[in-house]
Amino acid sequence: MNIIIFGPPGAGKGTQAKFLEKKLNNFQISTGDMLRNEIKKDTEIGKKIINNMNDGKFVDDEVVNQLLEKIIFDSNKMNKLIFDGYPRTLNQAKNLDILLKKSNQKIDYIFFLNVQKDAIIKRIQKRKILEKRSDDDAETILKRYDTYMQITKPVLEYYSKNDNFHEVDGSMEINQISQKIEQILTL
Ligand code: AMP
Repeated sequence: MNIIIFGPPGAGKGTQAKFLEKKLNNFQISTGDMLRNEIKKDTEIGKKIINNMNDGKFVDDEVVNQLLEKIIFDSNKMNKLIFDGYPRTLNQAKNLDILLKKSNQKIDYIFFLNVQKDAIIKRIQKRKILEKRSDDDAETILKRYDTYMQITKPVLEYYSKNDNFHEVDGSMEINQISQKIEQILTL
């Protein structure tokens, strides 16, 4: 089963992806983690993306699409993918469609975690203390939210017509959101 967890920064995508990873024995595919790892290892990709990441801007589609391609064709992970933070642009969404088709896979569920801006700002400020992420300061959070509204919102429109699209209230407590997702999975 392949799943997309979709939503603004701070909506709880990573938390719910980890929950589903455990529950379904699948793999959380977090492009944010993959990109942070490139920076940590100081790779060529890492050097290229560090400024954009720290400024709360998106990394180029080409770079992210390339990282994704390897994973989609990884036979150990096929049909066990939980996308967290991908796709974020229409180009990425269309690229994902192509890669899934080529690898004979499909998306079974898309969960949209819907949270309003003020709740997100509060949450990310808390996460900054816990995870010490350099892109979690107040100014960058606002930039990331605006980028989401401008660039990622069209992806929402792209998916929201699908039968496998499910909107979940992302302002609920973590375990309530997980329960809601579980319910939908058993429908
Ligand atoms: P996340 O951990 O998903 O919140 O992502 C953190 C940052 O990584 C984002 O603000 C972007 O700079 C970058 N990033 C993660 N996923 C993508 C993506 N699919 N496309 C472009 N940039 C991304």
